[in-house]
Amino acid sequence: ALALGAVSYLWATPGVAPGFWDMFVLAFVERLFRPTYRKDDFVLGKKLGEGAFGVVYRASLAKKPSSKKAGDLVLKKATEYGAVEIWMNERARRACANSCADFVYGFLETSSKKGGEEYWLIWRFEGEATLSDLMLSKDFPYNVEAMILGEDENLPKGLERENRIIQTIMRQLLFALDGLHSTGIVHRDIKPQNIIFSEGSRTFKIIDLGAAADLRVGINYIPKEFLLDPRYTAPEQYIMSTQTPSAPSVPVATALSPVLWQLNLPDRFDIYSSGLIFLQMAFPALRTDSSLIQFNRQLKRCDYDLVAWRKTVEPRANNELRRGFELLDLDEGIGWELLTSMVRYKARKRTSAKAALAHPYFDREGLLALSFMQ
Ligand code: ADP
Ligand code: MG
Repeated sequence: ALALGAVSYLWATPGVAPGFWDMFVLAFVERLFRPTYRKDDFVLGKKLGEGAFGVVYRASLAKKPSSKKAGDLVLKKATEYGAVEIWMNERARRACANSCADFVYGFLETSSKKGGEEYWLIWRFEGEATLSDLMLSKDFPYNVEAMILGEDENLPKGLERENRIIQTIMRQLLFALDGLHSTGIVHRDIKPQNIIFSEGSRTFKIIDLGAAADLRVGINYIPKEFLLDPRYTAPEQYIMSTQTPSAPSVPVATALSPVLWQLNLPDRFDIYSSGLIFLQMAFPALRTDSSLIQFNRQLKRCDYDLVAWRKTVEPRANNELRRGFELLDLDEGIGWELLTSMVRYKARKRTSAKAALAHPYFDREGLLALSFMQ
């Protein structure tokens, strides 16, 4: 019992279980006790998405006909990068289960007719809407409020209330990110399309770990910059200094990674992307792809200085843009202060997810207080 206790402690505690153990012993033990699946166990439903590295479907278990019509699972058929994605999902499930969509199983499927290999990844279906879907609705952010509180609020609409909703979304996003970062995982593709609203837990969760890097064990250590989405990438592009030697062997990486992490602060890459999402939530005019690309160009011209950007656009801002600044300026500008601490040129000047959660912007109670005020 003692041995089992020690094993499960190592297993479940982020930061305690070294990736080494994780990979060679405990993963094997877990495999023995978890159900395994194969291709024929699944019935495919509607296609949810298609990228360069895989196709995503709704799916259900073939031998559970009751779930067939709904499709209570999600299946991704991925190319060679599927291996990394399975690794990241298994690690996240053990170390920070609530940060990401609930991962069920992943396997290599070799029986496909073309003779090629495909990785199959299975998750629970978390819900219909990503943050991107919700943000593109003209009802945003009230549509999110209705989903989180599960009822229609009849408080007066206005800046204060919108700010509380956005604050709640940011808190949930940063909480999920903090979980990943404390586990040693940098996501590198944080964007509204990769944040799903989980209808079960009524919170936002992170999905799509296909471009993620696990710095504790050096998995996907060399950044694959072509996997990154230019709309949300931080200016450094590479999360580790280009001077860092290429992927060391697993034991060496395990020993070195805390040092490399402190040197390079790779997690701040995701913080920049999250800052852009915060910005898009505050400014409806920046929610389309083309306007975000234009914003990125403007910000680059300002040497990635948000304060300078504000000085150039505010004097000739229309009402909608002005309203965004007004929202961020509420409560002596703590929202603006948080935003500018996330979107900065130098990674080491950006706040961390943990520090951001302790920022005074989150001192107020957020959505919960809204429901109690009634
Ligand atoms: P891609 O590599 O195509 O971007 P993603 O993992 O981001 O793959 O999934 C594509 C889309 O599928 C997401 O944008 C989301 O709409 C949907 N999706 C993915 N995982 C889930 C899940 N667990 N629950 C519900 N929908 C999901
Ligand atoms: Mg995606």
